[in-house]
Parts: sequence; C-alpha cells; structure tokens
Amino acid sequence: MGPEKQGWGKVYFCPTPIGNLRDITLRVLDVLREADCIACEDTRVTLKLLNAYQIRKPLLSYHAHNIPQATRDILKLVREGKVVAFVSDAGMPGIQDPGMELVLRLLEEGVPFEVLPGPSAFLLGVVYSGFAFSGFIFLGFLPRKGRERREILKKVLLLPQATVLYESPRRLLETLGDIREIAGGERRVLVARELTKIHEEILRGAVAEVEEMLKGRDVLGEVVIVVEGAPKRKEEVQVPRRLLELLRRRGFTQKDIVALLSEGLGIEKNALKRQLSALEEVGNLGEG
Ligand code: SAM
Repeated sequence: MGPEKQGWGKVYFCPTPIGNLRDITLRVLDVLREADCIACEDTRVTLKLLNAYQIRKPLLSYHAHNIPQATRDILKLVREGKVVAFVSDAGMPGIQDPGMELVLRLLEEGVPFEVLPGPSAFLLGVVYSGFAFSGFIFLGFLPRKGRERREILKKVLLLPQATVLYESPRRLLETLGDIREIAGGERRVLVARELTKIHEEILRGAVAEVEEMLKGRDVLGEVVIVVEGAPKRKEEVQVPRRLLELLRRRGFTQKDIVALLSEGLGIEKNALKRQLSALEEVGNLGEG
C-alpha cells in the first residue's frame, strides 16, 4: 500500500468462517469491533456471526446487485475518515465473491485497504488432496456453459499442476463426468463437501470411482473439487543408434538385441522393440 491519504479511513478485508463459527482470527474480531461500519454480502449471514461474538455495528449491504451504489457509499465513508470492515458470506472476501470488484474499485480510487489472513475453502481442499506437489491452479467457478467449461478443462487438465474448482452440488456429477472424459477415469480427484461443518465429507479416488460413490445421492451443500495434475509421460531411454546398428551387423536378431539390452541395461522390452521398429521403418537397420 502507498502512503495513506490524509484524513482518510481504510477498508479492511476480513475473512470469516466457511462453516465453523470459531474459525475467525483475533485480529479480524478486533477490526470488526473497532470498525465504524461493516459492509457485508448478506446481512442475515453476517448478523449470525456478529451475534455469536456480541458485536453490534451499522451494516452496509454490498452484493452482486448493488455494487456501484454500495461502492460509492464505502468510498464516501472512507473519505470521511471512517474505517470499513468488509466481509463476504464466507471465507476470504475477494475469492470468488463480490469482494473481487471492490478490490478493483479501491485500487482505481486510490483508497487504502488491508487484507487480513484467514480461511478460504480452496486452501483446505488443496491440503486435504495431497495433489499439490507441483503447485496448483485455482480456477474458482467454471463458466456455466458446457462448451466453455470443457474448453478450459481441456487446457488445464494437461498440466502437471493440480486444478482446484468451486462447484455447485447440482453440477458436481456433470463436472466429474467432464473431467473423466477429458482426463480419463483413472485421474484422481478429491471432492470436499461442507468443509468445517457438521456434515463435512471428503471423497477421494479415481474420478470414475468418485462418480460411482455419488451416483443416486442427493448431494447438498458446498463443494470444492481438486483434480490431480496430469501424470508425467515416462521418458523412454534411447539406446544409441550406432550400438543397435553394430549389433545387427554382428548378426544379432531383433529378438536377441531386445533380450540382451533389457537384461544388460534394465530397459523395458517394449520400449526397445519400439525403438528398433522405428529404426527399421526408416531402413537404418537392414533386414534380419
Ligand atoms: N470467498 C469464499 C472462499 O474464500 O472460499 C468463496 C465464496 S464462493 C461464493 C462459495 C463457494 O466456495 C462454494 O460454492 C463452494 O464451492 C466453496 N465453499 C465455501 N465454503 C465451503 C465449505 N465449507 N466447504 C466446501 N466448499 C466451500
């Protein structure tokens, strides 16, 4: 953040629990208690949290349908020197919720803001999965249209990084079906449902298996999907062409060469056969 404007207040992005009401930091509670106003996505959701911590503050509603007006209200308050705590319904504001737009507007207007650390559903999914050795790509919600969704999946599922998605329970099976068709039924996935809540459920396995587990079930609640990265293609050991040519000239048959090199060098027989056939096709090894 640059130097703060004289006399201006500030906006604090305050992460809130994604289920269990106790998952809130002491610093977030301090800011909520000290702020002049709390801007929130849904006042009913936020009141539940504030009541649990006996916090009473004026609320300002900021949701997908009133963003321009609500932003003006927040900017006015900050210019008057007020501190605004901004919360979304759950988790980190700005991760797949209306907080995304607010960040952009605050940057445009040069309004100081601070982001406090705290829970976000995708992080739990990533850690539960154990798939993030090569990192992960967080896509949030996929577009609703089937074709656009599949185009995006086709690109990311080729990468070695895990893919992390938010999904509605209604589209869960359809999305798993797309993943199976694009990446194959063996690709491993994790479906994390209702994280930190009473009915938390973690399903993991090959995508085809997880689909079976879910078929016929009425899946409810909130869902994170983590897809394992694409497996690395095994690099085939290449035997120097000159050695193969030499062995052939000395009268070894293809079968002899495969047996000899697989035993002597520990190279897989099929890989050797593929290399020999490729060379023979281009006429490098002669008959035999
Ligand atoms: N800002 C939130 C965050 O930091 O995670 C995300 C908000 S987005 C509107 C809501 C989506 O987050 C849900 O549809 C679901 O995919 C995911 N989500 C939120 N809470 C969750 C939970 N307790 N368990 C699983 N997924 C959750």
